[in-house]
Amino acid sequence: MKIDNYNFAGKKAIVRVDFNVPLDENGHVTDDTRIRGALPTLKKILADGGSLIIMSHMGKPKGKVNPKMSLGQIKDVVAQALGAEVQFAPDCAKAADQAAALQPGQVLLLENLRFYPEEEGKPVGIDKADPAYDEAKKAMKVAQKEFAKTLASYADVYVNDAFGTAHRKHASTAVIADFFQPEDKMLGYLMEKEVQAVDNILSDIKRPFTAIMGGSKVSTKIGIIENLMDKVDNLILCGGMTYTFAKAMGGNVGDSICETDKLDLALDIMKKAKEKGVNLVLGVDCVAGNAFKNDCDTQICSVQEIPEGWEGMDAGPKSRELFKNAILPAKTILWNGPAGVFEFDNFTAGSRAIADAVVEATKNGAFSLVGGGDSVACVNKFGLADEVSYVSTGGGALLEAIEGKILPGIAAIKG
Ligand code: AMP
Repeated sequence: MKIDNYNFAGKKAIVRVDFNVPLDENGHVTDDTRIRGALPTLKKILADGGSLIIMSHMGKPKGKVNPKMSLGQIKDVVAQALGAEVQFAPDCAKAADQAAALQPGQVLLLENLRFYPEEEGKPVGIDKADPAYDEAKKAMKVAQKEFAKTLASYADVYVNDAFGTAHRKHASTAVIADFFQPEDKMLGYLMEKEVQAVDNILSDIKRPFTAIMGGSKVSTKIGIIENLMDKVDNLILCGGMTYTFAKAMGGNVGDSICETDKLDLALDIMKKAKEKGVNLVLGVDCVAGNAFKNDCDTQICSVQEIPEGWEGMDAGPKSRELFKNAILPAKTILWNGPAGVFEFDNFTAGSRAIADAVVEATKNGAFSLVGGGDSVACVNKFGLADEVSYVSTGGGALLEAIEGKILPGIAAIKG
């Protein structure tokens, strides 16, 4: 079922959202992006005349009640964003009466789902090496089903709008869907947008397609690089990965971040790119610093000739030009990971050059998807989030989707 085609009038809808928002030490929300992200779905349900049961996790309480991770702390912020009063259920598994009493237009926020180990479905307090682990895991799966059934019993219809946890097979993100008929379960608007954005870069590709992979390590990105290799025309590998490649090619990378056990992997990626006709773009020069801090001394040098005591911390001017040339003509762009230590203001030039080129290509009609952790922080830092086609909200989920993995949260609804 598509949410747009569903009339929630008189229905109770249980909606899985990702309200895992950052809080300060006094429990105040410091960034409400995730709450705002779910509003179109939540407001549609209320506007139709439905009632809302909102459920989410917050933090990693590991199956135990932890007041510091209570969703009660964000009740008022949710109410303000929704423009509606919000009731709170202090125990998510004992909210049947509150849910039953809900009238159209009313909202109930459930306490943190992860206060119950059943949400994640992993046995607690038992080591994987323990011979009893398998039994404990089986028992936990049964308990997880029961927990999901309890949540499902509160409502007539299930909506999943939590892309951030779509890669997890948890009670509220996947198992619960089994308790609803196909016409009574659906993705929310945010999820639909994320799924569409991933589809644009994995299936419905307009060429040329340029992927920009940055960040610190090649080892954490290898699954994505391999999947993209079959799809892209240009593959820019930047950030800390640069120095593993430079070293693999026989260069001296000084004190740069470098995975010496991944040199063969780097050479293999280069070979595969050649075989598949992918234009692999690697940085040739860098801004090196003599200490890992913003106000260190800097010099521009070849990535192959970084002096001892210096480390490559950003892309140099020649590299930026190479990146720009591979981005500007693109009609499909994926950007994951910064080109340098962008958290330090003196090392943002590489990431900024990429961001500017992505924005320009977008203006010229490209579809650009920015996502996965730090690249989002990066476009936000530059104030350019509104000038790319789509900024994904789901870090790990987006990366797994790009790796080509089926996301359980989506499969549970779409089959
Ligand atoms: P990731 O989580 O793998 O996407 O990595 C993001 C992190 O990579 C950011 O915190 C950047 O500061 C870091 N990073 C990017 N380039 C470099 C570099 N040349 N040296 C060290 N860290 C880097």
